[in-house]
Amino acid sequence: MSFDIIVAGGTLPDGRVADIGIKGETITAIEPKIEAEAGTVVEASGDLVSPPFVDPHFHMDATLSYGIPRINASGTLLEGIALWGELKPLLTHEAVKERALAYCDWAVSMGLLAIRTHVDVCDDRLLAVEALLEVKKEVAPYIDLQLVAFPQDGFYRSATARENTIRALDKGVEIVGGIPHFERTMADGTRSVAELCEIAAKRGLMVDMHCDESDDPHSRHIEQLAYETQRLGLQGRVAGSHLTSMHSMDNYYVSKLLPLIAEADLSVIPNPLINMMLQGRHDTYPKRRGLTRVPEMLKLGIRVGWGQDCVLDPWYSLGTADMLDVAFMGLHAAQMSSPADMARCFDMVTNVNAAIMGLDHLGLAVGKRASLVVLDAGNAIEAVRLRPDRLCVVARGRVVSRREKRDAALSLPSRPASVNRRHKA
Ligand SMILES: [Zn+2]
Repeated sequence: MSFDIIVAGGTLPDGRVADIGIKGETITAIEPKIEAEAGTVVEASGDLVSPPFVDPHFHMDATLSYGIPRINASGTLLEGIALWGELKPLLTHEAVKERALAYCDWAVSMGLLAIRTHVDVCDDRLLAVEALLEVKKEVAPYIDLQLVAFPQDGFYRSATARENTIRALDKGVEIVGGIPHFERTMADGTRSVAELCEIAAKRGLMVDMHCDESDDPHSRHIEQLAYETQRLGLQGRVAGSHLTSMHSMDNYYVSKLLPLIAEADLSVIPNPLINMMLQGRHDTYPKRRGLTRVPEMLKLGIRVGWGQDCVLDPWYSLGTADMLDVAFMGLHAAQMSSPADMARCFDMVTNVNAAIMGLDHLGLAVGKRASLVVLDAGNAIEAVRLRPDRLCVVARGRVVSRREKRDAALSLPSRPASVNRRHKA
């Protein structure tokens, strides 16, 4: 037997040390030692070999636009939306595409090989939709890119949003989005959830809604989303993104709400970098954290991933396409500090996020697609701690990114010549 690539001697996230054999676009062997020829051998002894990182919540039409035409002075979600409204008429097809492709280059270098991006349809030109559909095609050899039709200015609040949502879906956007907490009234928000879920059911599509991204404890659209999911038989195909109002809800109400979410088999996508930054801006002290109730949902078996949401755009002035930054922030904000929870945070930005996006072909197992990442870390928890260099990224059986190990050279009397901050227990 021969292989195109052997990734040799790496430590898998579950702790096994194994060689991984790749033929074409597929993982064809995972064994303690593979004795065979290979076109390329990637030496990974002592390093972590992981499935690719997956981001289930992003805004690729806005990314890398930070500062155009100005920055978000208040740091709130609402000023971000207003600023995006100023930027939208200035967008060109070429600029959106160029920024998106530049971001995808960053993503590849970080081993981030699957991204679900919302794309704003509240622009009668559908310029960003057209641009991102082209990007999706261009990056398909190395990134799974899913597009969500996202009526940013409100499905009812924006006069042409309904029509544009349908047009975007007709053009090939594959997931139905929404923003019920931004409609004019709670009642309109509720109606929008129902109608958008009906559209998805009729077309056999998935749903991913921005839901209750608010500090208002009365923003309860997730309840309606769970209800519509059951009513329309959409179980397993619906995600609620953000759910930050749950942070501020009454505990009794939440004790009824969480089982509803579990029963409807909803996926939940908190976005800790962005919501730690945006939420609680109307508070003095104590100041709310703006993160939904992650450990409580995990305890009930609800599928919870971590999303990145934004990089250098009207809502967020930082970001690096590193899903380990996201896991790191989520771990802190949700106080997931036990060894099992820390390892779980790594699993959330790889396997769980892939499951949320329905990407059954990803994962480290024989028969799965040959996409993986070699990291300069000894195990999954250390990877979250260090957010280390990606030494090698393989996408669909091709090495698409490499970098040399780079320890710091020290000049200290009676101390080692170099240091890498990895912990040798
Ligand atoms: Zn978002």
